[in-house]
Amino acid sequence: MNRSVKRVAAVLGPVAVFSATPFVAQTPEPAGYAHRYETEHFVFLAREGEATRSELQWAGGRAEGWFENVRGVLGEDRTPSAQLVVLIDGSGVGSGAVPHVDGQGRLFLYRYTDDFQDYLDSLLHELVHAFRRTTGYPYLGFVEEGVAAAIDEAFLPDKMSFPLYGFSADLVAGHLFKVDRAIPLGVLRTRHRALNLRCQIQSYSERVSFFGHLRDTFGLAALIDFIYDPAGVDSAGYEHAFGRSFSDLVGDWEVALSQRHRAIPDADAQWAAYIGESPAKYQNICKPGKDYSVAE
Ligand SMILES: [Zn+2]
Repeated sequence: MNRSVKRVAAVLGPVAVFSATPFVAQTPEPAGYAHRYETEHFVFLAREGEATRSELQWAGGRAEGWFENVRGVLGEDRTPSAQLVVLIDGSGVGSGAVPHVDGQGRLFLYRYTDDFQDYLDSLLHELVHAFRRTTGYPYLGFVEEGVAAAIDEAFLPDKMSFPLYGFSADLVAGHLFKVDRAIPLGVLRTRHRALNLRCQIQSYSERVSFFGHLRDTFGLAALIDFIYDPAGVDSAGYEHAFGRSFSDLVGDWEVALSQRHRAIPDADAQWAAYIGESPAKYQNICKPGKDYSVAE
């Protein structure tokens, strides 16, 4: 996920003064965090009561492993040279706060239960944004979210957290198409800002499924080349990267998705469990004409 820095700017205190040691991150560390823990590539800052030292040590180990994963797929020359600042920022329940990377490449993480482990659910995904931001690349919206999700899913295919809660993207996105509640991918692409969070069951599951399909068809390296292509990621960018137009790629994906969904033997029962028993039950499934207009 990615959010404007405006919302968080208000809670950031004055920038910390740097010491001359090479172990201090070049990225400004915000004030107001009670605990600080460093690893080779990270500085973790946690709010009072949000983490014990052993939890931060555990988080640091996981983060270092994922750092290697992301460096391995993005490439050494697209790897940040300074430590990344990770903020263990408290509960996101009720505040609407979602994990994001700000304009300086700092990673803001939230929990949605009392479990510290929640903080790490989005870290690998957010690392993709942080690598790009701290090495001078712009945020690409829909495409960057899609590629970050495809990388995340490649390394953590059975995640129990948002948006799939352990179910497959084919199950969720395939069901939405089956019952005519999918938002056309071209609409999600052109209206990313407006619909990404408002219609997140649809936007996340469809995007993960589509970019997972591109990854499995063309290879992860082709997706990485795509987001770093100086030619850009507009319609012509898809043609350049994959040899097919965006609308043709979407058409191919919809056919493949429908086939894969039909091959899930207990798809309806799985959907009932997803939408009735997982935290997805708290989320809005947008309706055309009510929550969004295709013509907007
Ligand atoms: Zn994201």
